[in-house]
Amino acid sequence: MPEVFEYTWDTPTYKGKTSFNTGVHIGGKWLDGSNKTTIDIINPTNGKLITKVSEAVEADVELAVAAAQKAFDTVWGLNASGSTRSELLWSLAKTMEKHQEELAAIEALDNGKTFGWANGTDVAFSIATIKYFAGWADKVTGQTIETDEKKFSYTRHEPIGVIGQIIPWNFPLLMWSWKIGPALATGNTVVMKPSEFTPLTALRMCSIMEEAGIPDGVVNTVTGYGHIVGSAISSHMSIDKVAFTGSTLVGRKIMEAAAKSNLKTVTLELGGKSPNIIFDDADLEQAVNWTSHGIFWNHGQACCAGSRIFVQEGIYDEFLKRFVARAAEIKLGDPFEAGIDQGPQVSQIQYDRIMGYIDSGKEQGATVALGGERHGTDGYFIKPTIFTDVTTDMKIVQEEIFGPVGVVIKFKDQDDVIKQANDTLYGLASAVFSQNINLAIETGHKLKAGTVWINCANQLHAQVPFGGYKQSGIGRELGEYALHHYTNIKAVHINLRHRM
Ligand code: NAD
Repeated sequence: MPEVFEYTWDTPTYKGKTSFNTGVHIGGKWLDGSNKTTIDIINPTNGKLITKVSEAVEADVELAVAAAQKAFDTVWGLNASGSTRSELLWSLAKTMEKHQEELAAIEALDNGKTFGWANGTDVAFSIATIKYFAGWADKVTGQTIETDEKKFSYTRHEPIGVIGQIIPWNFPLLMWSWKIGPALATGNTVVMKPSEFTPLTALRMCSIMEEAGIPDGVVNTVTGYGHIVGSAISSHMSIDKVAFTGSTLVGRKIMEAAAKSNLKTVTLELGGKSPNIIFDDADLEQAVNWTSHGIFWNHGQACCAGSRIFVQEGIYDEFLKRFVARAAEIKLGDPFEAGIDQGPQVSQIQYDRIMGYIDSGKEQGATVALGGERHGTDGYFIKPTIFTDVTTDMKIVQEEIFGPVGVVIKFKDQDDVIKQANDTLYGLASAVFSQNINLAIETGHKLKAGTVWINCANQLHAQVPFGGYKQSGIGRELGEYALHHYTNIKAVHINLRHRM
């Protein structure tokens, strides 16, 4: 039997405890992975082992798909009304509320984000997302369609079936909720694969789902490596859709696997290199605050991070001075200490990757205006870093760094900045700062990005769709738009008096 993980916190921000099983969770049962191997889960704050979780392999994906199919055919899918699903999703949100601080503490321990942000943003937003989709569950309707007087047609939006969901480590619970909400609201069952770096909240959610009354087998959780479990999900012949959030590189592999197997539909939320544009007439203080939040929120580990900061000539020097001063105020430290803004990066691998980008920026001749080095001696902490004097050929300007590293670039006018901002493979998000609303809106409309924030940054709501243009993805999460990716449309033709 897999082990139970127990942990007690006695910290300035949180006192409490948790206890949950570390196995794979299939059909309502905790199991060891078929290979009986485990994955080490490391605390990014000190590099020490937190616990081990079972490693799922292909055989476990088979079991999970079978359990999901059984639940679909018996207790979910067309066997649970929209109202029932709505009530159960609402119950899930209320049960999460009951355990909100505990979930936040697990996120902080596993991912390294601060307890305050995890509690106030990640877990709160996850609960709001489940509530939002609970509201939709009994409102998924088709159309009646007039053809001619001899016939009558209507459409049904039916659940797809068993959905594979593969999520990353940067917002472990939030990405879980963005995926689970629309899938369950529309009647699908799920095989969920959390990131091998941060599987702990997904495991805790298995017992929270049970407490909330979600039937066994509706969500099956397989903790494992991407190239084994993720790959088995994306090439599985009985999984009819995969929803993925992660890197563009892996998104491409998932599409390939889908194409080579059963042509399953695929939605992808991928990387970004989002422009953050500040015009001369912006409210400077607000622009500085939002820009800092735009790039340094979640330690820069946000797909929509405003990592390319374009500043118009007239305010460039003043903006840079204030932006550097603002970023220098960010307090790094233990995620459970009060007053800390930024914890460690998630893993040694990410730490090395980001430091590699910082080194490349220095080698290619960019100027370090702030940071550019590690913080402290333990864990994976990197100081907020700002580069100036960059050129478009530099790796730090072209590639997604996924860490607390921003580049500041001067621009002349609107045409110039739109050209530069759109000069990227990505198209996830963007931000525009100006007190001239016409200029801001017009610029926003010309940016090739799935989201435009005007005079703000990183604002996400359960009601508003989120997703990318270009290589930032396919499809939309959140909002009513997300539901469209989780149903099949059936057209029913009824013959009234058309005789052969
Ligand atoms: P990743 O692509 O390495 O991993 C994401 C998930 O895919 C993990 O669960 C991993 O195990 C799995 N995986 C890895 N190889 C696989 C394979 N061959 N087949 C199937 N699954 C596989 O990404 P990450 O490092 O966990 O997350 C960071 C990336 O995610 C960044 O690029 C970031 O921009 C992106 N992201 C995007 C959004 C968005 O909404 N657009 C949100 C969060 C993160």
